[in-house]
Amino acid sequence: MASATQAATIYGGLFTAAAPLQTKRRSFTFRITASSNSSNPPLVGRKLRAAVIGAGPAGSSAAEALAAGGAECFLFERAPSEAKPCGGAIPLCMLDEFDIPARLIDRHVTRMRIFSPSNLAVDFGKTLRPHEFIAMLRREVLDSFLRDRAQSRGASLISGLVTRLEIPASSPHAPYVVHYTKDHARHALAVDVVVGADGANSRVAKSIRAGSYACAIAFQERIKLPDDKMAYYEDLAEMYVGNDVSPDFYAWVFPKCDHVAVGTGTVCSKQDIKVFQRAIRARANAKISGGRVIKVEAHPIPEHPRPTRVRGRVALIGDAAGYVTKCSGEGIYFAAKSGRMCGEAIIKASEGGERMINEEDLKREYLKEWDAKYITTFRFLDLLQKVFYGSDAAREALVELCGDEYVQRMTFESYLYKKLADGNRWDDAKMVLNTVGSLMRCNVLGRKMEALKI
Ligand SMILES: Cc1cc2nc3c(=O)[nH]c(=O)nc-3n(C[C@H](O)[C@H](O)[C@H](O)COP(=O)(O)OP(=O)(O)OC[C@H]3O[C@@H](n4cnc5c(N)ncnc54)[C@H](O)[C@@H]3O)c2cc1C
Repeated sequence: MASATQAATIYGGLFTAAAPLQTKRRSFTFRITASSNSSNPPLVGRKLRAAVIGAGPAGSSAAEALAAGGAECFLFERAPSEAKPCGGAIPLCMLDEFDIPARLIDRHVTRMRIFSPSNLAVDFGKTLRPHEFIAMLRREVLDSFLRDRAQSRGASLISGLVTRLEIPASSPHAPYVVHYTKDHARHALAVDVVVGADGANSRVAKSIRAGSYACAIAFQERIKLPDDKMAYYEDLAEMYVGNDVSPDFYAWVFPKCDHVAVGTGTVCSKQDIKVFQRAIRARANAKISGGRVIKVEAHPIPEHPRPTRVRGRVALIGDAAGYVTKCSGEGIYFAAKSGRMCGEAIIKASEGGERMINEEDLKREYLKEWDAKYITTFRFLDLLQKVFYGSDAAREALVELCGDEYVQRMTFESYLYKKLADGNRWDDAKMVLNTVGSLMRCNVLGRKMEALKI
């Protein structure tokens, strides 16, 4: 465990002016004085100090907002040079919203092909406009860009493994202490606010007893293909559904810079993940045979938000909070977005880092805003997964529906721009009828009514 002296050294320089000490912990101190115009006391002679644990898209986006907004921000990352196992597909709106430069994009996917259990293939991208595409990036490239930008806005990156978060026992303004190892030495840092962006196995979530969530396991092989085979995937991504490749998710072949990522996931049958992986390789065999596996990776994917996402002055974001959508397994955009929203919420509540904040501030400015914006989307995709991913008959219905141009347009509008697409009442009614028709044709409607009751 780090000594108080170590902690104070890391914490050093915070309290330079002579002012009354109101809260004292170990050898480092917090100075807080009461304010007449807010229930949150102002911080005198220093700024609000935040620790962001984990520098994936969630953590770096939070750190950027915190540092740019005036807080003193420390961003912890245990493995800055490693790549998170990920398909790397992001929606168009993220490029603009997060100023992601075009040079980071490996592939512009304009064609999606979805294969039913009986290998019926439907092209799912016919309604894309000329400037529209799904961006495919390597996570190591995206993550290091976002991390560098957070640093350039003033966040201090600490390349270390956070081992423990010490929760203050009593005083509402006492510091949290982040314990971490760096260069084989133990350290500690005292902070006012903690943002847990440490992914699906979040230690921060455990520290605040945030409760658990169900996880899928995703398995992926990166396969380098001969040039002629790679050319086939130039602008094409493939999705495969069927009991053979996953009992409750989908399998994919996504094009990357010089290889394809071939993978699958499951919640209910994790022990069989390698069987499903062999099945997706078999299904895509004609297109990927002759390829060389250059990397094998696996990682959990959260299935739903945690029961608790804010406790005290600690907030969870991204995968640590459980922000991955069902059906698509999409989490990068929601990680970055929740990070930015949480960082901005802290800045707003602390008036630019000038005041202490509390749990109510985090709930009001971050959680409430997040839920108002996205919880319906998450619930809707959960429902779709229950209806369409449960059996091969339902999956045949799903693929059949994907052939409908209106369904395609509405799906892409919602995915690419992350807002509900403006539909047309007549087309909406037709879509509902088509859905019911497809489910009936595939003989699944009666069996799936139970799922629709949530
Ligand atoms: C195989 C696979 C494919 C996927 N494909 C897609 C896709 O195509 N598109 C999409 O949108 N989403 C995809 N996802 C989901 C996406 O990867 C996640 O939702 C996203 O990475 C979440 O970002 P995050 O910043 O919350 O967490 P992470 O990206 O997991 O980042 C957490 C960071 O915290 C660091 N960390 C963890 N613990 C500590 C600690 N104790 N101390 C210091 N640092 C720590 C980690 O090293 C890591 O850098 C996929 C997931 C998997 C597993």
